[in-house]
Amino acid sequence: MKITTLGYPRIGKKRELKKANEQFWAGKINEQELQTVASELKAEHWNIQKENLVEQPTSNDFSFYDQVLDLIVDFNCIPKRFQPIHHLSPLQKYFALARGYQDNELNINAMSMTKWFDTNYHYIVPEFYKKTHFKLSESPKAVQEYTEAKAIGIDTKVTLIGPLSFLLLGKEKEQGFHRLELIHQLKEEYIKLLNKLCDLGATEVQFHEPILAKDYNEEINFALKTVYNEFKKRASKINVCVVNFFDCYGDYLPTILQLPLSSLHLDLTRCGEQLKDVLSSQYLNNSLTLSLGVVDGRNIWKNDFKKSLQFISSAIDVVGKERIEISTSCSLLHVPYDLELEESSTKINQSIIPWLSFAKQKLQELKELQEIVESGSIYTHPLFIKNQEIIQSRKDSDQVHHQEVKNRVDTLIDTDALRSSPFKERKEIQKNILQLPLLPTTTIGSFPQTKEVRQQRNLFIKGKITKNEYDTFLKEQIKEAILFQEQIDMDVLVHGEFERNDMVEYFGEQLEGVTFSSFGWVQSYGSRCVKPPIIFGDVSRKKPMTVEWTSYAQSLTNKPVKGMLTGPITILQWSFVRDDQPRKTTCEQISLAIRDEVLDLEAAGIKVIQIDEPALREGLPLRKDAWEEYLTWAVNAFRISSCGVNDATQIHTHMCYSQFNDIIQHIANLDADVITIECSRAQMKLLDAFSDFRYPNEIGPGVYDIHSPNVPSKYDIIDFINKAKRRIPVDQLWVNPDCGLKTRGWKETKAALEVMVEATQKARELF
Ligand code: GLN
Ligand code: ZN
Repeated sequence: MKITTLGYPRIGKKRELKKANEQFWAGKINEQELQTVASELKAEHWNIQKENLVEQPTSNDFSFYDQVLDLIVDFNCIPKRFQPIHHLSPLQKYFALARGYQDNELNINAMSMTKWFDTNYHYIVPEFYKKTHFKLSESPKAVQEYTEAKAIGIDTKVTLIGPLSFLLLGKEKEQGFHRLELIHQLKEEYIKLLNKLCDLGATEVQFHEPILAKDYNEEINFALKTVYNEFKKRASKINVCVVNFFDCYGDYLPTILQLPLSSLHLDLTRCGEQLKDVLSSQYLNNSLTLSLGVVDGRNIWKNDFKKSLQFISSAIDVVGKERIEISTSCSLLHVPYDLELEESSTKINQSIIPWLSFAKQKLQELKELQEIVESGSIYTHPLFIKNQEIIQSRKDSDQVHHQEVKNRVDTLIDTDALRSSPFKERKEIQKNILQLPLLPTTTIGSFPQTKEVRQQRNLFIKGKITKNEYDTFLKEQIKEAILFQEQIDMDVLVHGEFERNDMVEYFGEQLEGVTFSSFGWVQSYGSRCVKPPIIFGDVSRKKPMTVEWTSYAQSLTNKPVKGMLTGPITILQWSFVRDDQPRKTTCEQISLAIRDEVLDLEAAGIKVIQIDEPALREGLPLRKDAWEEYLTWAVNAFRISSCGVNDATQIHTHMCYSQFNDIIQHIANLDADVITIECSRAQMKLLDAFSDFRYPNEIGPGVYDIHSPNVPSKYDIIDFINKAKRRIPVDQLWVNPDCGLKTRGWKETKAALEVMVEATQKARELF
């Protein structure tokens, strides 16, 4: 029984690649130096796999920026707008695609980026045209990496994103064709690539086709058959593995099982039931190897050997040990590097460390599982016994389980998720209290996190300034922010979120049941990494988390100051979540903690409270038939957190990079008094979903893009307000930027907000 892998993290355990990339972009190191860092990382990752008895580690899982971008370059489907930069080196051009290019004459927009399935990893979206002409590069990256490994004596399995996923993850940039029509042409280039690899001695290619985890589609099924049959015919010496993760193969299974594959990978952490289907299928042939993804590549919990061994044994019983490989469920790209780095950390709750497993430990788990299976005496093996002791200690731990939190969730009743009166009545009450003009103006919460703000925070964390000094500094920032907002005549003010490092981390740090690693970085996109909170136990709030800052801000002005909170779905979605209870339950616990905060803010006299839920949409399951269930509990979680208030308290929510048309009923079910959304880049088109639905509550469509330092003109904003007004009755509209302003500087922020308020005043006169 072999061990197989689907990819290792690549950013470096101390984020070496991030740092080297950024130095290269800043011109501080040259291409050769960057390549050296990359080669060292690749060699290290191959060796770690070798040490853990992975016979053929994967190559081509490394990437300077993104593995989809690598293919865009290798198949030469580079958007025309990048033609003028032919003078750059290949690597510089590569980064230009991801990051855009500016010089004195040129200003080329970056290719867009979107989330990789339901992860927080972002890939570069391929752009396709009717006439897209794929042409395999002279020296494709997969070939380079295979050769590089071979040169240091390591025979690798090459991983590639499969042609179906590559096409379907992209988008058409002109009308009148579907990108899947390009499959035949693309397939030819894949075949060339397979033959190139074959000539160099490669024997195995692992195709990642995660698109198969999404809804079944007849055309995709047909293409699947054609492509993989032809791979076998025309690159016959290469053993082809197909990999799918994040869900099962669903209705694609019969087709998949009839393809001439050498192995098939199953994500058994997301979909354990599919193993039975595979093992009992009439189409299962007697040469196919099954790669069992038993170790979770999406989470950081120690593997429960009992569960894994059950899968492994049942598969061995049917097909025999020789045809079984064990593996992680998906690439380890989505988990941090090495738990050992946390052993001296003072940040993480040390008592949970035995329960965790990062990338390196996950390889060790596979090695141990192999050892246990090979020993023949599974349930008496010392490694098994030790593993079960640890699993049990987590189940019994009073770090994890708090009866009063569980009771609160169990005794929730329907009215806890219901405002006292319907929106129409609340609207009148709130109108009287808040006395806002037509088209009220507000912002999304954060103001610039300047170098100074970050510096002071670091000094405080390092103990170089006292809490008192830090608080005084923050209050100074808040005061200036309030003063500025009053000066420009903003209607609903914010305190600026200067005390927050990150909108989830700030709350996570204050909640019981949540902890943070010191080095648990995971790549989010390019050189950006995030360190997700670890929700390990029942979640509750120890004490008020934001009331002091919000009340201080409110004490400085007669205008309403909006209290700013991160919502339960977003906290859940952007964390490593416990796997010993349904996500729904964890989410409900967080909702109750946020509800407590909402009520404390209300009691402190705060009249407007915003609960941000930018991650609502990204929590959607991959298959549509599971949407309803998720949306029902997610919306309910938001309502638990927001519905404890009086009618007079105005609840806002905020969502960005979201589309609403197919979830509009659920957005309406949130029953927030006001929703602010990112809207300007789509020219207010996102509002169509709201107008078609006759969305009853109030909406603040973003009237300018906060991702660029450009200051909008008054004209632009009036134009946007006009567009919004054509879709939504004006007495339902608010005016605000697309999102928070923390990544901006003060100069453009002040200028833009001043223009925004002036434009709104003009619009009020006009309407
Ligand atoms: N209140 C947060 C901010 O202004 C919202 C951020 C977000 O939507 N991602 O930064
Ligand atoms: Zn936002």
